[in-house]
Amino acid sequence: MLAFRCLMAIGALLSLTTAAVAAEPAPGFTAVPLGGSVSVLQGYECNIAASVGDDGIVLVDTCGTKVAERLLTAVQRLSPKPLRFVINTHAHGDHTGGDALFQKLAPVIAHHNVRTRMAAGNEKTRDKPAPPEALPSVIYDSEMVLHLNAEEIRLLHLPPAHTDGDTVVFFKKANVVCMGDVFMSPAVSFGDRWYGGGMSGLIAALEFVLPQIPADAKIVPGHGVISTREDVARGLEVLKQMKAVVDEGVRDGKTLEQLQAERPFDKWRTSVPAWSSSDKSLDGWVRDFYREIAQKPAPAPTN
Ligand SMILES: [Zn+2]
Repeated sequence: MLAFRCLMAIGALLSLTTAAVAAEPAPGFTAVPLGGSVSVLQGYECNIAASVGDDGIVLVDTCGTKVAERLLTAVQRLSPKPLRFVINTHAHGDHTGGDALFQKLAPVIAHHNVRTRMAAGNEKTRDKPAPPEALPSVIYDSEMVLHLNAEEIRLLHLPPAHTDGDTVVFFKKANVVCMGDVFMSPAVSFGDRWYGGGMSGLIAALEFVLPQIPADAKIVPGHGVISTREDVARGLEVLKQMKAVVDEGVRDGKTLEQLQAERPFDKWRTSVPAWSSSDKSLDGWVRDFYREIAQKPAPAPTN
């Protein structure tokens, strides 16, 4: 009996030790609780959301290949429970780089365009085809719901925006929304035309999804700090203002070079990602809008 009690005591001690270890983040990744079962793992180039509860762990995105092992260590320290599902918000390698490793533990879920683009690779962006074991094994089309950890996890595919396979993930009970790269805080995101995205599409997708986001939701951007619905609305407004400037230039018959020479996007230098804020990069933003708008000009204002 005494031996049994000692074993019980040792068991309790081990549980405490495990709990102490669980609170300790892996080097480089920091777990920040957001609400309910959901935390975000931060420290590298993208934000990884994790729902942790009695049913196990659900992960949103797997960051880059180089940090996959480190991310796995961080995830395993969140809970001894098994990884149940991994969700990819889109096909870019800084969000799917750990898929091959994580899919050894749990299925990866994504929109079908993510699997298609990962399998094909991309010559323009020099992305190699992903190995078969990295390809998402559970594919959805427009919407999907998971019920785990007493949470309703809703996956919603957006019209072509950042890419043509963007998924926004709603954790209903925790009131957390993972935007993938449709939103980057504090800057606006961009439409990657080599991955089926576009600037006008990004605006349309944000207009589509914004009304579905609760006013007090915590927003997990693909990159950057945890944000609010207001931040997303502000980003949308900047994109619409950018588009309006180029719309007007195209209507006035300006060439791309003439419009770029006017430096119309300089005032939004701090609204675009820092790596994309040089003069040359801002020219690229004008060009991306111009190319789409010149193909399909907006109708002239009626008043
Ligand atoms: Zn991306």
